[in-house]
Amino acid sequence: MLIPAAVADYVAGLTHPAALVGCRLSGMSHDCCEHDIAVFGQGENAVVHVGGHIIELVHVGMAAQDVAPLGRIEVIRDSPALALSSMLQEVAPKLKKALAAFGRKSLVSSLFCQQKMKDTRHQVASAMWLKMAAYHFVQGTLALAGTRPMPLHELAQVRQAELATDAADGVQAALECIGIERATRSEIARSIEAITELKSGDYDKELTRYKAEHLLEKSMIADCYYYLGRVASESLAGRGSAFYSKYGKLVQISMDLSSDIQQLEKLQKSLFRAAKKGL
Ligand SMILES: [Zn+2]
Repeated sequence: MLIPAAVADYVAGLTHPAALVGCRLSGMSHDCCEHDIAVFGQGENAVVHVGGHIIELVHVGMAAQDVAPLGRIEVIRDSPALALSSMLQEVAPKLKKALAAFGRKSLVSSLFCQQKMKDTRHQVASAMWLKMAAYHFVQGTLALAGTRPMPLHELAQVRQAELATDAADGVQAALECIGIERATRSEIARSIEAITELKSGDYDKELTRYKAEHLLEKSMIADCYYYLGRVASESLAGRGSAFYSKYGKLVQISMDLSSDIQQLEKLQKSLFRAAKKGL
């Protein structure tokens, strides 16, 4: 049984069809990983604690384009007419294609962020865009290799993935852009504080902090650094240039951005070539 009884009972009592998704189905999860539950209906996303387990409820629609991106799904609660199960049968043959499409879209996002890097004159924003571009590249490369990226596990996933030489070189360049070799406990501690501030209005801010601290406890320093940069990247993506200028210090600390412009420009060229080749 993949789901503890307390979690299954809780989910069975929800008003909408619901299913287990995410890393708990992958065999890669850590003790700190929540049980990701996709709830097919309207409602507020939330983190709840049930019988010593953490559940994250994410509400999604039940059309094919909502269901396919979820990847593997284990139905816990269906509607009386079994709407969820029949939708799963419908999307099953399309999952591979949907993942590949997501992969290409991520590589395009990587190129888009690299263009943003070139367009901005603000040094912190420039370093931020490159790092975002690198995360998109890693996700895209994983997806194109048939692996669904999972934020907390992406670094482990790329280490395990069997990638073609070009893709593997690209990932190497992306990890340099991310600055994985700079990961230290003290830097991570600073990032955690900055990210908690960035995410102060988010329902999952405590969960992010809890997971990062758990990885630190297990001395998974590089994984923790990668994960936090990824979370910060997602949180910052839509905030706009006025925010990046006004809160430059917060952006810099949350993503641990380098100020070595020459080095960043060199790395961008490698990442650009890799993203182009991947498309
Ligand atoms: Zn996980």
